[in-house]
Amino acid sequence: MSNPLKPKPAQDRADPMPGFARLDAEPFPVFEPGTVWLVGAGPGAPGLMSLMAYHAMQHADVVVYDALVNPDILRWVRIGASLEYAGKRGGKPSASQRDISERLIELARTPAHIPARVLRLKGGDPFIFGRGGEEAQALKAAGVPFRIVPGISAGIGGLAYAGIPATHRDLNHSVIFLTGHDASGALPANVDWRAVATASPVIVMYMAVKHLPEIAAALLAGGRDPADTLTIVSNATLPHQSVLETRLGDVEAFLARNTPDTPAIVVAGKVETWRAILEWYDDTARESPIG
Ligand code: SAH
Repeated sequence: MSNPLKPKPAQDRADPMPGFARLDAEPFPVFEPGTVWLVGAGPGAPGLMSLMAYHAMQHADVVVYDALVNPDILRWVRIGASLEYAGKRGGKPSASQRDISERLIELARTPAHIPARVLRLKGGDPFIFGRGGEEAQALKAAGVPFRIVPGISAGIGGLAYAGIPATHRDLNHSVIFLTGHDASGALPANVDWRAVATASPVIVMYMAVKHLPEIAAALLAGGRDPADTLTIVSNATLPHQSVLETRLGDVEAFLARNTPDTPAIVVAGKVETWRAILEWYDDTARESPIG
């Protein structure tokens, strides 16, 4: 006899609005003309975007996107919306932050005298090392209404794809996020490396490949163990994701032999144990370009 409590297989239930179509009936916020939405696109895999991000893409008139936004995500922008690139690629200098903020304001106000719905699409989360705070400040100062749509940051979601939990009760009750670049591209001067070196068992570093030797030296000088593992996750969440591993004290020799692909997240801390156990993004998982 069949068990009445057992759920029926999905195909047996008649669903008048199957799949994503049902979402169209949901009360998403209206993307008003003349407003800017600062939206995180996630670390790369299109499937890791939020529903709000997808909704914004279906309603935007213009999408201003960064270098780290996966082109496969841009395919999902509403047909008819215009796409504007704001970032650096192929050696071209990056648009200055002031120029980008001004462009957002200009687009929201008067393209052809019709205010536009402006989607500012950024990699990861707009407020994590993404200058979203500065853009929001400029919009606020100019009186342009805006909304923030958070995204999955590479330092969390990207690590997950390498089998690394950013926190684990057996290893760390705190985590540090830091950037290896300041606005000028130099190692940030206002990081207290001594404090950072000892404050947390796990340090997650963005934009850290270029200055890795200096960062390693600063952490070692701050008292961190030279045997501490450095895990470098490149192109995280994408089918060509790769992971390299070395020790904090071996960075110079490691870089003489290896050139990590970028973008990359660098993790200092003994996370290799988790990676060995939890690594799940295998050849089969990589077959899906969605994530
Ligand atoms: N706002 C973004 C970070 C922008 S700074 C976020 O929240 O993720 C850019 C840096 O993010 C890169 O230099 C790299 O360190 C990291 N990053 C972004 N996407 C990545 C990816 N797919 N794989 C590895 N690192 C990534």
